[in-house]
Amino acid sequence: MKFKIVSKGDERSNKIKATMKQYLTEFDLVYDKETPDLVISVGGDGTFLEAFHRYVHRLEHTAFVGVHTGHLGFYADWTPDELEKLIIEIAKTPFQVVEYPLLEVTIRAESGGKEDRFLALNEAMIKTADGSVVFDVDIKGEHFETFRGDGLCVSTPSGSTAYNKALGGGIIHPSLEVIQLTEMASINNRVFRTIGSPLILPKHHTCLLKPVVNRSFLIAIDHFTTNYTNVKSIQCRVAEERVRFARFKPFPFWNRVRDSFVSEDDNRV
Ligand code: NAP
Ligand code: MN
Repeated sequence: MKFKIVSKGDERSNKIKATMKQYLTEFDLVYDKETPDLVISVGGDGTFLEAFHRYVHRLEHTAFVGVHTGHLGFYADWTPDELEKLIIEIAKTPFQVVEYPLLEVTIRAESGGKEDRFLALNEAMIKTADGSVVFDVDIKGEHFETFRGDGLCVSTPSGSTAYNKALGGGIIHPSLEVIQLTEMASINNRVFRTIGSPLILPKHHTCLLKPVVNRSFLIAIDHFTTNYTNVKSIQCRVAEERVRFARFKPFPFWNRVRDSFVSEDDNRV
């Protein structure tokens, strides 16, 4: 089996990377940056996002696992104390794989019919540097509302605990193949009206955002923001592709939510 390790780059993460690389090669696994079967991220959820985007072109052939060197992560859910166990588990391959849904974003620009397609593991955020965004929001080909406000966030189920949560979105179990649309400070008065609640869209219910006033947007796909001009439309839907996680121990999603946001102690009395 071929593996690659992506480190956050700090001393602690680099040390863990070196240890894992050494032991796994001793177990006859092959270090291969180009076509790894397993990508190990060492750092935080941010490092995991980076690792995901580095291998986003070959998701079908890649499984991911994350070791956290900071606080507990949603993607990076192995601790440095468990390193030995993880190394042995990896060396014992084949491993179990769990798949989570992704968000597909297609940005179409006015000039030259340019089209950019992205996959997001957490979310897409659409904002502007000048004033409010104004979009006609179509859902499944029908006009739903005209949105005015700071912006919109469209998240995946596994990204629902990230930016989406800060916007008051719901936490969604990743076994559900959906995307969630949350508002960032919408303007609501007698003239402008939006739904005001997060919307959860199933597969094939495409959401299309069509700019009404400004056409320049800051579009963030996970941790990476790009400035787009002359935007004609931004299409969001559940992607056909999925992300594959290598699972070596059970760590249910709701336990991760509890341990990250409620309490790490077992608070039953
Ligand atoms: P960052 O500023 O380090 O990320 C902000 C925090 O979000 C970090 O604590 C990060 O964990 C955590 N995070 C990332 N993905 C998560 C997930 N799926 N569930 C729960 N927490 C998650 O920036 P970054 O590390 O490059 O990560 C980019 C992501 O951060 C974006 O996709 C966005 O969702 C999120 N973010 C959230 C807020 C907010 O909640 N107000 C603001 C900005 C960005 P680590 O420390 O382990 O990296
Ligand atoms: Mn981070």
